[in-house]
Amino acid sequence: MTTLLISDLHLQPATSELTDGFLRWLDERASGAEALYILGDFFEAWIGDDLLDLGAGDPTGTAELAARVAAALKRLAEGGTAVYLMHGNRDFLLGERFATAAGARLLPDPSVVTLGDRPVLLMHGDSLCTRDEAYMAFRRQARDPQWQAQILAMPIAERLQLAKQLRDQSGEANSNKAEDIMDVTPEEVVAALRDHGVDTLIHGHTHRPAAHDLQVDGTPARRLVLGDWQPDQGWEIVVEDGTEPRLQAFPLA
Ligand code: MN
Repeated sequence: MTTLLISDLHLQPATSELTDGFLRWLDERASGAEALYILGDFFEAWIGDDLLDLGAGDPTGTAELAARVAAALKRLAEGGTAVYLMHGNRDFLLGERFATAAGARLLPDPSVVTLGDRPVLLMHGDSLCTRDEAYMAFRRQARDPQWQAQILAMPIAERLQLAKQLRDQSGEANSNKAEDIMDVTPEEVVAALRDHGVDTLIHGHTHRPAAHDLQVDGTPARRLVLGDWQPDQGWEIVVEDGTEPRLQAFPLA
C-alpha cells in the first residue's frame, strides 16, 4: 500500500496550470493510494468556509476553485483513499465544512501517525520557525479560537477586503518571503522529535525540500521537508510498506 504526503500547493485562481496539474496528479497518482496527507498551505489564502456560499459570486474566484478541488478530493476519498488535511499559516481558517466537502479529515498540527508500520511526526512546519518572533506572535493569535471566531463573524466582503489589505501590505510578489525566508530552529526540531518519542519528522512550509539526518540524544533521526509546488513541478513524499519515506519531485506540466 502507498501513502502520499504533499504540502504548500498554495492553490489560487491565478495559477490555474498548477491546479490542473494537481487534479491530474490526483487522478493518475493518488487514486488507489491508501492515504493522502496534505500538510498545510493547500490554499494560498482562506477567509472561512462560508466563502463556498459565494460560488461564482466570489470576485476572487477562490470559491469556484475550492469547490472544484473539494469535489476532486471527494472522488478520491470515495474511491477508498483516506484524505487528511492539516492547516498551514495561509489556510488556518479552513474548517469542517470544507473538509466534509472534500471527504477529508482535519489533522491537528502536530500529529503522530503510523506510516509504513512506523510512527512519524507530521507538522506544517511554521511552529518550528521560532526565530521569526513577529510571526510566532501572529501565529499565537491566529490559532486562538476566540480570535478566529471574531474574524469569522465579520461579513465575507470585509474579510475579503482584510485579506487583500494584508496581501497589499506585505507586497503581492513577496507575500511569502518574510515567513519563508526563515528556516526551522534546529533545537526545536530535536525537541519536537524527543517530545513525541519518534525518529522521523515530515513537514513543509519552508519551501526548502530536503532530507536531513540528525541526532536526538545520540540516536539517529531524520527530517524530511516537502517542497512547494510550482506550475511545472510538484513534490511528494511516498511511503510504501517496508520502505523508508522517500522525497521526490516530479514534472507537473
Ligand atoms: Mn506555510
